[in-house]
Amino acid sequence: MALRTDVLDLGSLHLGSGEGRRLELGVTVGPFEFGGEQYAVEPATIPVRLDVSRTTGEGFALRLRFSATLSGPCMRCLEPAAPAFEVDAREVSQPGAGEELESPYVDGGAPELGAWARDALALVLPAQILCRADCRGLCPVCGVSLNEAGPDHHHESSLDPRWAKLSELKFE
Ligand SMILES: [Zn+2]
Ligand SMILES: [Zn+2]
Repeated sequence: MALRTDVLDLGSLHLGSGEGRRLELGVTVGPFEFGGEQYAVEPATIPVRLDVSRTTGEGFALRLRFSATLSGPCMRCLEPAAPAFEVDAREVSQPGAGEELESPYVDGGAPELGAWARDALALVLPAQILCRADCRGLCPVCGVSLNEAGPDHHHESSLDPRWAKLSELKFE
């Protein structure tokens, strides 16, 4: 059963050095905003898989995996878009072993899964949220969706003058 647990107490797992545990949890990630548009992260409670391994001392190695969908307008054609993303993130928390082994998401043995999940998801997001990878966008002349209008949609008057010149050439 997935618990909604944004902060987890690693100490309560009672793991000995070298021991591990796989946890199925749930986290909530608030919406992202791009260009003034809201992109909701779905589902509202994302099922996540957290692999916890006790290293030495008070140290832990963590692996967080989940898939989530961003829901909002396609940045090219403005139609609803809901692309799904896979996240596979790792953190090491080894108190006292130097800054690079201190996870910003693990504070006193309690990982902040919500903040970690959000940052890990942000890292895999593309520059543009699209309804589909090959979205053709909107016609720059008349604004019609080129996904619906098809590849033959064009305007004679919008021809680049250089191409217009070429089209006047006759090949015998
Ligand atoms: Zn689109
Ligand atoms: Zn057009």
